[in-house]
Amino acid sequence: MSSWHLEQVDLLAEVKELVALETPTFDVIVRDHVTIRGGLILEHPQTGDYLDRWGLAIALPDDYPTGLPIVREVGGRVPWIADRHVFKDGCACMFVPDAQWKHYPEGMTITEFLNGPVRNHYLAQTHFELTGSWPKAIGDDRGDRSHGPRGRLEYWMEELETASPRVVERFLDYLASDWVSGHRPCYCGSGDPLRRCHASTLALFRNRIGKRLAQDARGAIAYLNSTYRG
Ligand SMILES: [Zn+2]
Repeated sequence: MSSWHLEQVDLLAEVKELVALETPTFDVIVRDHVTIRGGLILEHPQTGDYLDRWGLAIALPDDYPTGLPIVREVGGRVPWIADRHVFKDGCACMFVPDAQWKHYPEGMTITEFLNGPVRNHYLAQTHFELTGSWPKAIGDDRGDRSHGPRGRLEYWMEELETASPRVVERFLDYLASDWVSGHRPCYCGSGDPLRRCHASTLALFRNRIGKRLAQDARGAIAYLNSTYRG
């Protein structure tokens, strides 16, 4: 696949214009791929005073804008470990893939991404450096979610408002299937048929989460649950 910017000349011009206007501490570097590089300046969420600066390089993938931009911290401050929400290759983990529909919705611009999820991620990283713990809330999301499969399970427990990993597993079983009869028992465990219980929740997430992603989440969480049960 060739990089998006060779064909979508207007989109590249828009990216350059938006970055120059809205995040002028960043530059757009166009080579074989497009990278946005610079310093993210953070202000204190309450006082508005200068708080921190993070050196970042954000690679726009070949399938941009569908594909999620890939964020790396370039100052060597954050170790590349799961406990700090960094993958083994140094890329930042800003949210679980199951929550991409919420944090990187279709139509989000690069500067909305920088000033939204990226800013929130590095506010949390600064908080961690200063205090040794994650903030409970950051933006409109939790700041203290785990990395990896456990983080995915936590995300789904919040979305489905359940404390039961088994409810999440049953929900993802249904979500990963092409079609589920409304006569089947609801995933929530009420004993009612789906059509008289949580059918609308299932329908809502069918629109948000593709089948492949649902199958992936189901696999990761079923595995996690099986290791709980021993
Ligand atoms: Zn139900």
